[in-house]
Amino acid sequence: MSAGTIVAVATPPGRGGIAIVRLSGPAVRSIASAILGQLPAARHATNARFRGADEQLLDAGLALFFPAPHSYTGEDVLELHGHGGPVLTESLITRALELGARRALPGEFTQRAYLNQKLDLAQAEAVADLIAAGSEAAARAALRSLQGEFSARVTALDEALATLRAHVEACIDFPSEEIDFLGAAALGRRLAEVSAQCLSLQAAARQGRLLSEGLTVVIAGAPNAGKSTLLNRLSGHEAAIVTDIPGTTRDVLRERIQIEGVPLLLLDTAGLRASGDAIEAEGMRRARAAMGDADHVLFLIDAQIDPQARSFEAERAGLPAGVPVTLLYNKIDLLGDARADTDADAGPGTGAAVVPGLAALAISARSGAGLDALRTHLLAAAGYSPSEGGTLSARSRHLEALQQTAAHLQAAESQRLGAGAGELVAEELRAAQRALGEITGQSSADELLGRIFGSFCIGK
Ligand code: GDP
Repeated sequence: MSAGTIVAVATPPGRGGIAIVRLSGPAVRSIASAILGQLPAARHATNARFRGADEQLLDAGLALFFPAPHSYTGEDVLELHGHGGPVLTESLITRALELGARRALPGEFTQRAYLNQKLDLAQAEAVADLIAAGSEAAARAALRSLQGEFSARVTALDEALATLRAHVEACIDFPSEEIDFLGAAALGRRLAEVSAQCLSLQAAARQGRLLSEGLTVVIAGAPNAGKSTLLNRLSGHEAAIVTDIPGTTRDVLRERIQIEGVPLLLLDTAGLRASGDAIEAEGMRRARAAMGDADHVLFLIDAQIDPQARSFEAERAGLPAGVPVTLLYNKIDLLGDARADTDADAGPGTGAAVVPGLAALAISARSGAGLDALRTHLLAAAGYSPSEGGTLSARSRHLEALQQTAAHLQAAESQRLGAGAGELVAEELRAAQRALGEITGQSSADELLGRIFGSFCIGK
């Protein structure tokens, strides 16, 4: 991405009431004068005719001029609000190109806003998260991050780190002052305070990431365990074909749902069993691959025919390490047990085997019994607990930066306790600050910026 004047349609493609063509950059004033006949008054909606070469009329509508630096990008910006037809917008863009603009790359308007310090990187990402928000809760969280709430907490932690670093470095530079700072409990205490601040920010970012990026949940199990029925129940419509013929689902089916505003991608997979059928075998390969990429696996067991969870034992060794698995004993409506209609955990009451170390729930995908408990369980297992003050939006990238910050803080503490060498403590604090700076963009590489803004839509 480079300088110059950029142009793009800022509204979604297709026909609509209004379409907005937006320009930003140094040639905006001359392009505006050429298309509109004169530069419109700043920040006023001006009724105007949009003209092409040879003065032919291209469209008529409203023109809005935002002189730098008081614009979204921080540069001169012109918005032309015309009729919402793709031919009209394209003719305006062609005219702007003739007059020296070039087509904007995805996210280039927001990147300019970032480069001109209108937004920091976390706020710029919140713009994309706001546009992509799949639930009201996610939109509210992204809006809070866009307003700078997340950045303010990052900045506060950064300032605490900087102050601590200044003290440590002062002790190295002025050893004659004989401030036994590194041995003093004071440094340990302050390191602990900064670590606690980092920990609480990590917790907030974890919640935010769940809202922005959601969870991928794979439903797996033997054929006929009720996987498709569960997918349909949770999604609220007949997304998957349900039959009692084993091997009906042969590919991975995807459904987007939300639980308390947290977006969930539910994957229904082919039943796992020994089969000579090549298509079914490929379905099972895809099922296992999906489990490997999942945030959570729900392993369904037919509680009536497999109470000892042998279908799970057969698959257990092949399950990816580190992905949380919950056993769901399904079809409890068939057990004729008094507990069948309750939300109680699976266990002796269902006659089901308890697999040590694994969470288990009893459900009926058909009747819906136990599904509220399942929803609560999924959110709790993911660590979701919306805070009183409201959740912020965050991304995996932010969490990774915070994890690195925490690791350097821990290393600083080890250095303090071990060698007691001030230089090494200072070095770890410097590294902690560098890692933290990646969130707001203070220490971000060009390649990272390209990746972040490249994922935006054109015109934003
Ligand atoms: P899948 O092969 O694991 O996807 O299983 P399906 O969802 O296709 O279900 C297989 C059969 O079990 C169908 O006849 C369903 O109606 C039935 N089934 C699924 N869940 C339940 C349940 O909770 N209770 C009862 N009684 N039947 C169920």
